Amino acid sequence: MTATLDTDAVLRVRQQVSDLHAELVRYGLVVWTAGNVSGRVPGADLFVIKPSGVSYDELTPESMILCDLDGTVVEGAHSPSSDTAAHAYVYRNMPEVGGVVHTHSTYASAWAARAEEVPCVLTAMADEFGGPIPVGPFALIGDDSIGRGIVDTLRDSRSPAVLMQNHGVFSIGKDAKSAVKAAVMCEDVARTVHIARQGGPLVPIPQESVDRLYDRYQNVYGQPGKA
Ligand SMILES: [Zn+2]
Repeated sequence: MTATLDTDAVLRVRQQVSDLHAELVRYGLVVWTAGNVSGRVPGADLFVIKPSGVSYDELTPESMILCDLDGTVVEGAHSPSSDTAAHAYVYRNMPEVGGVVHTHSTYASAWAARAEEVPCVLTAMADEFGGPIPVGPFALIGDDSIGRGIVDTLRDSRSPAVLMQNHGVFSIGKDAKSAVKAAVMCEDVARTVHIARQGGPLVPIPQESVDRLYDRYQNVYGQPGKA
């Protein structure tokens, strides 16, 4: 941890992480309290995460929990999300990651229940995910196994989202907003590809076209750094 805590940075991340939970509700990715967003505090070995068991419309910046990278609470009146250990493992092992999101969104979790990756059959998927959305291992909460499964799967993939088998989605990004976008897009393509398959066989996109689409979208499209 840095010697002097940048309290402005912590306040900014508290606000962002609190606000972004409303996006999970807006896009229909969560029911009850089963989904969470976290964000790394720039320049510190700290992250901010949702408190456990608090409903989305009661979340405030002040009620967010500040944790160190071992998942130990540094500031917070509530206990942190029960998924905190998984988020912490990702931050410890993927220094480039600034945000993590977890949901049980319906269509993506249906693919996870079959332990089936979402094949890359839409140009929007090639843009965002650079290939299929991969499946991570079956892992139970309680130790590092969920976090390890997320990191081991995403390290070998261009996808910012992983379908943890029999469980749901974990997504990552350069910040919390990017991780939320990945969770939203993951559910959107999981739904579309599911519906497409009801109508007949899926047509894959050739790998060289996937590569070109991914490269263009990640490097040319939009304004760099403002995804
Ligand atoms: Zn879960």
